[in-house]
Amino acid sequence: MKDCFRSLSLSAPLLKALEDEGYRTPTPIQRDAIPPILTGRDVLGCAQTGTGKTAAFALPLLERLAAVAAKADAPRGGPRHPRVLVLAPTRELAIQIVESFATYGRHTSFRSTAIFGGVNQYHQVKALERGVDILVATPGRLIDLMDQRLVSLTQVRALVLDEADRMLDMGFIMPIRRIERALSKDRQTLLFSATMPPEIRELANAFLRDPITVTVTPVASLAPKIEQALFRVSRDRKQSLLEHLLATESMPRAVVFTKTKHGADRVAKRLMQRGVKADAIHGNKAQNRRQRTLEAFRNGSLRVLVATDVAARGLDVDDVSHVINFDLSMEPEAHVHRIGRTGRAGATGIAISFCDDSEVDLLRDIERLTRMRLPLRPLPATLAAMATVAADVDDAPRESSGRSHGRPQRGDRGGRPGGPQRGNGERASQGHSPKTRTSSQGHRPGASAAAMIDAPAQPRPNGMGARGRGRGRR
Ligand code: AMP
Repeated sequence: MKDCFRSLSLSAPLLKALEDEGYRTPTPIQRDAIPPILTGRDVLGCAQTGTGKTAAFALPLLERLAAVAAKADAPRGGPRHPRVLVLAPTRELAIQIVESFATYGRHTSFRSTAIFGGVNQYHQVKALERGVDILVATPGRLIDLMDQRLVSLTQVRALVLDEADRMLDMGFIMPIRRIERALSKDRQTLLFSATMPPEIRELANAFLRDPITVTVTPVASLAPKIEQALFRVSRDRKQSLLEHLLATESMPRAVVFTKTKHGADRVAKRLMQRGVKADAIHGNKAQNRRQRTLEAFRNGSLRVLVATDVAARGLDVDDVSHVINFDLSMEPEAHVHRIGRTGRAGATGIAISFCDDSEVDLLRDIERLTRMRLPLRPLPATLAAMATVAADVDDAPRESSGRSHGRPQRGDRGGRPGGPQRGNGERASQGHSPKTRTSSQGHRPGASAAAMIDAPAQPRPNGMGARGRGRGRR
């Protein structure tokens, strides 16, 4: 009883919805945040996705709406203007939050809607006209609608900033401040963020009144149920390594992160050519296409989802077995968000990061922020074996990649930068012998095989990197 939702004083319609969902025990953030939110306190929550934070704010806010609605003097009739406003960084997250409100509030009569950019505003405006109690919005579209006087925020009594650090990263600080100015000061404010950099604290100081701080994991630390691994691999061999891992490891549902939209398309296309059910999701894809892709990933008809950081934000899919950082994230905080896609809802997840020479600084930033060193895994034996073949057959002088990166890996030998690589991973993952691989393809054996191995590992004589800096400890 002590550990169940009943002890949090939630009313029957919400408890029933939780029962429908099969939730038995509140997660730590729910246990700590729901009681103060129910009493109207402001909350500063340091929590990443996968901790159950959406229910941690949605449940008590629904409960408070119900309490107001039950009062004899509650306003009745007339258009319903939003009384809860949730700001989220991306449309995916906005949709997910609104779906959560709908799920948890399914036995109540509250209406919620999401508004976000990238689609025609028509249906969103219509939904607002019909009246909503809970509005979930991305800041840009909300400002657009405010400027057109198509939304009224005068009734808002609770503001939630979800994934606030990400909203700041995405440059939403001015819109957020403007939206806040349009709200009554007499409101409850909840701010959730995976990390607490100084800008977030500043925002919290400006927006929250005497908040209760709830931290479910230490700042920027990682969910304990995520096993991490690191491969040092050259850029042009990442695809081969990915294909090898997909062919050899049990990886039922993986999210692969790339730096660019173009990169996401390229990786997904090559996987599809290898017969792996994969698709890419990023900001250039139409909203309905993105939703379809997400749905296919959710229902298991896609094995691999290749995504950019922004597109994957808020992605809530249970049972993501692996997160593969094909490219390291530009911001160390994003690494924390990325790997939070796996290990959700109590499951154990695996996060594998590929790091090429140009990413050593990013790796260092990630390790500094998370205060842990990513465990280095040697390249798979098939890839390393290729290196031996390469060394045997290719006597051509090898160019250094020009960057120092310390500890060479097993099989680390000089490679010919830019050598042919397509087909290497395919062959490696098919498990042919190295000799068959090289000859069957008819490439110059050395070039082909060399393309399989990790980055050339000759440090420059002065040990300096390409940009003239000492880099990387690995
Ligand atoms: P969130 O951190 O809000 O994105 O939630 C992460 C996942 O945990 C979602 O799939 C939720 O449906 C699920 N979840 C949230 N709260 C609970 C709970 N108390 N018990 C089981 N699953 C939950």
